[in-house]
Amino acid sequence: MRYKFCPECGNKLTEIEAGDDGMVPYCAACDKRWFDSFQSCVIVLTYNEYDEIVLSNQWYLSNNYTSFTSGFMKPGETAEECAVREVKEELGLDLESIEYAGTYWLEGPEQLMHGFIGFAKKKELVLSKEIDAARWVPVYEAAETMFPDKPGGPLYEVYHKFLKMLAGDRHMGKEESAPPRIYRMEAILQKATQTLNTLDANILELQQVQGDIQELADYYDSPEWRKDFEADEKGLFSSDLRRGVLSEDGIYNLLERNKETMEMLKPFFDEE
Ligand SMILES: [Zn+2]
Repeated sequence: MRYKFCPECGNKLTEIEAGDDGMVPYCAACDKRWFDSFQSCVIVLTYNEYDEIVLSNQWYLSNNYTSFTSGFMKPGETAEECAVREVKEELGLDLESIEYAGTYWLEGPEQLMHGFIGFAKKKELVLSKEIDAARWVPVYEAAETMFPDKPGGPLYEVYHKFLKMLAGDRHMGKEESAPPRIYRMEAILQKATQTLNTLDANILELQQVQGDIQELADYYDSPEWRKDFEADEKGLFSSDLRRGVLSEDGIYNLLERNKETMEMLKPFFDEE
């Protein structure tokens, strides 16, 4: 913002030479120079110990897209203090550490935005009224809903700085120029590997539990089950008994589902 009138006395400003800055608006009555000014704000990416970050929805920004925590700086506070305050206010989280990510000039509103990456231990978010929704999201899924942004934009830059941090590249050296897609692809590789590992482990477990499932099937076929079922119908058992096995289709559904799944996995077992 370029001043035309003195914010203190209201006089029309003239100009005065101010060294390297050239001509600067000036109030002769107050003897004050009024340099062009702009608002300062912060944007904070908050992450936790599980590589999740907070994405927020604010209806006045967008119904569809999510963003990080942001807000305006108050006179007297540092950008760091503002970042901590905004995260506390909007999400109810206490940042344990923050790292400066950089500054970004917002052309439209003429604001200087300070980017931060903050760490908070995972806990349930307590949202302010300003926030319509917010949640912890695995970092590699975040880009799917984030505001579209491009290199140089605060969201893009802070997010990619964090991806670099995650990739263990904390040195601002020659590796700096690695294209963002590498981090994205690395994240997919990690996620897919993890998912397949979990699947392998679960298939193995399902195989091992077949004996137990057979025991359940035998019980379901036995006179004991009929006896237990009828006793329960008569209300002989306590009301807080877990009785999935005595429900009409409880065991039947499980056995069917197990059969279908084992059939589907047959090629997998044959291969072993
Ligand atoms: Zn004045």
